[in-house]
Order: sequence, then structure tokens, then C-alpha cells
Amino acid sequence: AMEAPPRRHRARYKGPAAPPWKETYRRRCMERLRSSRAKLLDRYRQAGDRECGPGALLVREVMEQEWQRLQEGLPGGPGEEALGQMLEEPDELAVLEEIQQELILQEQLVIEEYERSLQFDEECLNAMLDGLDASDKVICPVCRKNNLTVRNHAVFCQCGLYISTQGMTEEKLRALLEHTLTEHSHRCFHNPEFTVTCGMEEEASLLMSCPVSLSVKFLE
Ligand SMILES: [Zn+2]
Ligand SMILES: [Zn+2]
Repeated sequence: AMEAPPRRHRARYKGPAAPPWKETYRRRCMERLRSSRAKLLDRYRQAGDRECGPGALLVREVMEQEWQRLQEGLPGGPGEEALGQMLEEPDELAVLEEIQQELILQEQLVIEEYERSLQFDEECLNAMLDGLDASDKVICPVCRKNNLTVRNHAVFCQCGLYISTQGMTEEKLRALLEHTLTEHSHRCFHNPEFTVTCGMEEEASLLMSCPVSLSVKFLE
């Protein structure tokens, strides 16, 4: 019903004066489409991979609803004619088509924006998973930059951290770090810091501390 008429008709009938209801109708359609973003995206997701033409999701519905509203309340608005009948009249048809094109464009913009945000979410997720995959290494909690080197007898890092251990593995160390961090997070919202202590007599040990909790010496 809304196909474009042959071009010559359009040129011949398109008068210079737009009907008085045009601006109101255009604006209301646009507002309704914009405020129906959630509904539009629902339909888009439901449509899935099924091919649906441009503007097929919500534009027609929006135009019909606003047309009805226009007839109910605008002085000097279109009469009792239904939108379908209106489309038989060339002048109005041209106006309606112009508005329809604008709405279709708006609908496409919303969908493109949605697609971009989906892609962004996916990239974030992938980056996180990549991080986990790489995590058979243990990042040094002191410098937070280099991977720790874990040997049976010692844990050390390029930043200078060196702690003597016994029977240490990367797996054990990561579990220990995770446990300590998790345990701390259950009772405190602060971000703990890690430092290496080195007393005169005792060997170096790793210390976790935060502004409000007691320090925990957990690797010595
Ligand atoms: Zn380090
Ligand atoms: Zn704390």
C-alpha cells in the first residue's frame, strides 16, 4: 500500500504547500518511534536472521497510531479518512512518504547503534576470557606488571621481589593469592596492597595490607 508511485506522478502532484497537519504528524511519529526503542529492539531480536525490509519493524505501526491520534484531536487535521484511504491522494501521499523515509532512517539508526553496542560487549568479554586463558601465569602483586617466576624453593620477579618458599607451584601460589584476596574482600571494601617485608633476622615475606585492615603476612 505504501509503495512509491511512479516518479512523474510524484513530480506532477507535489504541491508547494504542505498540509497543515504535516509538521505535527511528523514530529509525533518521530517521538513515538524514539520512545519505542525497547520495543523496536525486541522486534529486531525476535526477527532474528529472518530478512525483513527496512522500516518493517515499527514504522508502519507508528504511522498508523499517530494518524489515528491526529484525526482525534487536531483542528484542521485530516478528516475521517483512514491512512489507507489517504494514500490514494497524491499530495498527501508524497508527504506521508517523506515522513516514512525519515522514520525508516531513524529505525535503521537505532538498529545500527544496537549492533555496535553488541559488538562492543562481545569484544569486552573476549578480552576478559583472553586474560583468564593467559592466567596460568601469576602477575606479581607488588609491581602488578611482570609475571612471577615460581620455583620449588622461591618466588621471584623482575621488580626485585624474592621470597624463599618450599614446595611452591604456580597453581598453589595463585590459589593462595585468590584465597587471601577473596577473604579480604568479604570483610573490607578497600583495595589491598602487597609489599615485601624484610626484617634484619628473618627472611623476606609477602605482606598484604590495606588502609583499614590489619596486614596479613601470607607468604613467608
Ligand atoms: Zn614484581
Ligand atoms: Zn582492607
